[in-house]
Amino acid sequence: MIYDVHDLNFIKKSFIIYEGKTERILIYRKVGESSFHYEFACPKCGYKNDYLGMLESKKIKEGGKNKEYYIVKCQKCGTDFRVEKLKPGKKHG
Ligand SMILES: [Zn+2]
Repeated sequence: MIYDVHDLNFIKKSFIIYEGKTERILIYRKVGESSFHYEFACPKCGYKNDYLGMLESKKIKEGGKNKEYYIVKCQKCGTDFRVEKLKPGKKHG
C-alpha cells in the first residue's frame, strides 16, 4: 500500500488473532472518502483482504470491563475478527 499520512484522516494498525495465529491489520481512511480501507491477511484461510467498508464498532464485556472493538470480516471465509479500539492516551497491555 502506498499512502501519504497527510492524505489520511484515520489510521489504525493492529493485530488480529485466530487460534494462536497473528496477522497484522491496517484500517485507514483517506481525506474526502466516506469508506474505510481494510487490509489484512486472514489468519484463518490466508486470504489477502483489501476492501472498502464502513467502520463498525461493538462493545463487548470482558472480565467485568466494557471493551470496544472494531469488527472486521474476511471477505473469503466470512470469519469475523475483533480489533481492540484503544482509548486515546491509554497504552496497550
Ligand atoms: Zn478468511
